Amino acid sequence: MGAPQGRMLERFREIVGARGFIDDPAAMEPHLVEWRDLYRGRAAAVLKPASVEEVSAILLLCQESGTRIVPQGGNTGLVGGGIPFSGGEEVVLSLSRLNRVRAIDSANDTITVEAGCILANVQAAAEQADRLFPLRIGSEGTCQIGGNLSTNAGGTAVLHYGNMRDLVLGLEVVLPDGRIWDGLRGLRKDNTGYDLKQLFIGAEGTLGVITAAVLKLFPKPRDVQVAMVSVRDVEAAIELLAMAKGTSGNQVTAFELMPRLGIDYVLRHIPGTQEPLPSRHDWNVLMELSGGKAAGDLAPMMQAILEAGMEAGLVLDGAIAQNAAQAAALWRLRDGMSEAQKPEGGSIKHDISVPVSRMPEFIARASEAVRAIVPGTRIVAFGHIGDGNVHFNPSQPVGADKQWFLDQWQPISRAVHDICAELGGSISAEHGLGRMKREEITRYKSAVEMDLMRQIKGLLDPKGIMNPGKVV
Ligand code: FAD
Ligand code: ZN
Repeated sequence: MGAPQGRMLERFREIVGARGFIDDPAAMEPHLVEWRDLYRGRAAAVLKPASVEEVSAILLLCQESGTRIVPQGGNTGLVGGGIPFSGGEEVVLSLSRLNRVRAIDSANDTITVEAGCILANVQAAAEQADRLFPLRIGSEGTCQIGGNLSTNAGGTAVLHYGNMRDLVLGLEVVLPDGRIWDGLRGLRKDNTGYDLKQLFIGAEGTLGVITAAVLKLFPKPRDVQVAMVSVRDVEAAIELLAMAKGTSGNQVTAFELMPRLGIDYVLRHIPGTQEPLPSRHDWNVLMELSGGKAAGDLAPMMQAILEAGMEAGLVLDGAIAQNAAQAAALWRLRDGMSEAQKPEGGSIKHDISVPVSRMPEFIARASEAVRAIVPGTRIVAFGHIGDGNVHFNPSQPVGADKQWFLDQWQPISRAVHDICAELGGSISAEHGLGRMKREEITRYKSAVEMDLMRQIKGLLDPKGIMNPGKVV
């Protein structure tokens, strides 16, 4: 199976037309590089189909010619799943022209969108219908629904609304043999056999191409309250979460861990950010409540949660945003946390989950293990602890050589992942396996589970044309 050339490339061009065909190296470039420049690849061509039928024709031709194909959405993925390998034999299939909102059914609380719709545009379409589409992630201005589905994206509202898997009712998928599966059902109840759509969610483009989806909509919350809260330690944060959920009647919509070090990084490197509280404490959480019937409804409840937390010795300090601008300023501290790590030098990133109850133990043990390997490592452990998910990012000691530190990736990662596994956790909570963790996962998933995954892959894609070398 070599690269498609000459007449074969011509046949791909005939399917998508001149507007949907790119083989000029400079024009292909944005599709071949990952945003952090961790992965770079080559491709025979980038194809941008404008209809489901074109996607189907492309896959049929791939099947016939043995051409390997890499689906791509907004190219914001963090594990190299949407980037081709360096051989130049693959074709990239960009979904960006399939970007229509096909329908909104307000009474059914659903929106039907094509895979290439940018997440922020779907949020806006929901808003226009006085509804909420709750998926909220840092890359929402660029990532696409097809990519969100294929990575089962998470983000900062999973606590209340679930991840992408929970937000989908139906899918339209083009199978590797070119057949179109119309599974665009808007049903909340459908017990007619295996739930096939779930196979394609989180499959990272290895089983088929998602072309459209029916997504769930929710009532728009009338009030949103945001607070920055300093807590005694990580254990206190977990206790506070339980208390807040109970007191609010389950209206906690975000609960994000904000370590002092991470806030310091943001204040240093992200312009326009400010110290959130008068006192400085090691552990803080960004807490959001939403719901109610009118603006301000939940303010007394937030106040009550913080007071109860103080009385219980969990909360050391706290500030409740008094208006939307203050709330946005608090969120900016959270949203800047990934970017602010870059200027601090090398960072060895992990995206792990453990049961929420084991989170304090995980952070303590993993921090100790990393510092035993490289003394002076600065640990930035932040993010979605309400979901049992933390971005555990050791960053290099001050003054260390960046490359020297990054060379410790293997022993550090191994130690972190082993502790995660001991605590019943996962080594990829929200970013997927892609090519980054394809080998690593075989150490942690049972042989039975790996075998089932390979069998499913073999069944749907016997020729191995769909995003080969990723996931399994
Ligand atoms: P891509 O990167 O283009 O592709 C991702 C994978 O899906 C690839 O394997 C690709 O082959 C496959 N794929 C894409 N489209 C299709 C399709 N239509 N059919 C079949 N396969 C397809 N992720 C989170 O979960 N939570 C976060 O909080 C979060 N924050 C982020 C913040 C920043 C600043 C950045 C850069 C990334 C963040 N991410 C986060 C990761 C990333 O944004 C998500 O994984 C996102 O869902 C990827 O969408 P995409 O359209 O960019 O997909
Ligand atoms: Zn995240």
